[in-house]
Amino acid sequence: MQSPEIQRRVSRAVRVGALTIGGSAPVSVQSMTNTPTSDAAATLRQIDALAAAGAELVRVAVPAAADTQALGDIVKRSPVPIAADVHFHFQRALEAIDAGVAKIRLNPGNLGDRDQVRRVIRSAAGAGVAIRVGVNEGSVVDRSDPTRRAADQAKPLHELMADKLGEYLAVFQEESFDRLVLSAKSHDAFTTVAANRLIAARWPWPLHLGVTHAGTAATGAIRSAAALGALLAEGIGDTVRISYAGDPVPEVTAAWDLLAALRLRPRRGVDLIACRTCGRLQTDITPIVDALQHALAGVKAPLTVAIMGCVVNGPGEADSADVAVCAGAGKAILYRRGVRLRTIPADQIVQAVLAEVNDLAGQ
Ligand code: SF4
Repeated sequence: MQSPEIQRRVSRAVRVGALTIGGSAPVSVQSMTNTPTSDAAATLRQIDALAAAGAELVRVAVPAAADTQALGDIVKRSPVPIAADVHFHFQRALEAIDAGVAKIRLNPGNLGDRDQVRRVIRSAAGAGVAIRVGVNEGSVVDRSDPTRRAADQAKPLHELMADKLGEYLAVFQEESFDRLVLSAKSHDAFTTVAANRLIAARWPWPLHLGVTHAGTAATGAIRSAAALGALLAEGIGDTVRISYAGDPVPEVTAAWDLLAALRLRPRRGVDLIACRTCGRLQTDITPIVDALQHALAGVKAPLTVAIMGCVVNGPGEADSADVAVCAGAGKAILYRRGVRLRTIPADQIVQAVLAEVNDLAGQ
């Protein structure tokens, strides 16, 4: 059965170290460390963990000179390109470029002085460094002038974000700087979608998608999936960051799950399909699924495992899964790639599934 593919917006290809964002490159996954960047050892440990989980670019904050001083070591030892996140101090951007980062994240609204922005652009151009120009909902209203503030607040927020990005881009265009990635983030999924639709229609550069201040894992994952999923399904977006409070490694796993769900990237590891359970259930499969979720976490092969509680949907899921079980009262039928292998006791489901998965993963 043929499935329709998402038609992606054609954007300009931008090199970021060894990574390409935009053009025909697959949608990339990125994340950000939450260690003090000045602590190079701790930051590198987190970068390694993020890269192992599938991050293809990692951003680090550089609020102080001590942070940019640590960047040289971090850039040299990182397995993936490093982006420096700069706010307020243009010197940090110049220092980060000197330290060898592949990309700078700049919110020109937080720098204030166009000449400072020009200095960063010229330095990045000379070093072959990309710049992400980002607008955040929180920094688009001009509060310095009451007239301007009233005019800004009268506009729909997504239009204001796109217009503000246009103001920022003017200086990059005057400098003929083309190695750009654009972003517009809000904590609100609807605003994020509307702003990125406008931006995708106005400019040719690749888009970094994300939701800002998304909250905890529970709320952040849903907000991000709503906003990023809607945009990606329309073909908008060239690199994604799912962000929420706490350990950033699960953000990377969630981003891969989202891209795999939309068939934009191959799945990393096992896709575990489990029946939701209902009154037809004759064997309690919840502890079995929990045990398998844990045991399969380390498998890197892109396999599908289906654990079904009865014969209603079980054989259908087994057809499209690499390994499947269809449970009955105290026993289960084991399938491999749609072929019925044998009937096993219910208390052997976990070990039987693991044996088939390990066999397939080793092929
Ligand atoms: S597979 Fe069977 S037990 Fe599980 S939810 Fe579906 S009908 Fe219910």
